[in-house]
Amino acid sequence: MDIGIVGLGLIGGCLGLDYRALGHRVYGVARREETCTAAIAAGVVDQASPDQAILAGMDLVVICTPIAAIVPTLTALVPHLAPHTVVTDVGSVKGEIVAAATALWPRFVGGHPMAGKAEVGLAAAELGLFRQRAYVITPLPETPPDGVDILDGLATSLGAIVLHCAPQAHDRAVAWISHLPVMVSTSLIQACLQESDPMVQQLAQQLASSGFCDTSRVGGGNPELGMMMARYNQGELLRSLRVYQNQLRAIADLIEQGHWDSLETLLQHSHDARSKFL
Ligand code: NAP
Repeated sequence: MDIGIVGLGLIGGCLGLDYRALGHRVYGVARREETCTAAIAAGVVDQASPDQAILAGMDLVVICTPIAAIVPTLTALVPHLAPHTVVTDVGSVKGEIVAAATALWPRFVGGHPMAGKAEVGLAAAELGLFRQRAYVITPLPETPPDGVDILDGLATSLGAIVLHCAPQAHDRAVAWISHLPVMVSTSLIQACLQESDPMVQQLAQQLASSGFCDTSRVGGGNPELGMMMARYNQGELLRSLRVYQNQLRAIADLIEQGHWDSLETLLQHSHDARSKFL
């Protein structure tokens, strides 16, 4: 297949490496000539250009820009697309984007490969990032089934675990397991930084080990991506944050009142539930 990728960063770069390894011809578009040259040198694309005209005649185009740029990118892309081209995106939020993109291009199929790294940019791209990771496809009732099948087949060929759901269901689910954890984790980092005794803060830093590493990881990730998750999934993220605030308050009450048995019961429930949830 001829596959176009717009936005040659981490996710665009990883997709390019995988699709080329599978024998597809990959054409890239980036804003800067240097990125195009670097992407060809890294083996991420066969050809690349800042000019979207390079994507005329593609079977599939994947938009891998930051969330805010997905719809403007598609708007600029539409005049260059062949009637049969399926367009997808990789944005971490789906509701607003899928509605706007489908209005621009009826053969748009929303997608979200649920894999990432702490680093961003083309230099961090690697083969096989999506293997054994969820890849969510979010069609609307009017989305052409053959377009959904093409994306499903390609995502499956990456070794991903493909799931289909409505865009709104996706956004509510990722609020719980992706967007809320980013805000909780960043709050943890911010709270620790509020220790007023410099000696204690330094000691805490020296003592921080795997537990703090795990719980602070997503809060220390890509700031632009975290902000975009909140901006484009505001309603669902706020809903989950309110539930979380209530839960935190309930735990603080148990501790304040010395209800140790209740606290242990809650911790036991979480211990049991976590292994089932994952
Ligand atoms: P990234 O490494 O920063 O890549 C984004 C690329 O888009 C950059 O290489 C940049 O290329 C280009 N770009 C930036 N602003 C643009 C604009 N206004 N117009 C056109 N191109 C622009 O970020 P990423 O992590 O790959 O994220 C890209 C998308 O993947 C986002 O929509 C995100 O929601 C989604 N996603 C990310 C993850 C993750 O964990 N990282 C996971 C799943 C999905 P130039 O600056 O060279 O032009």
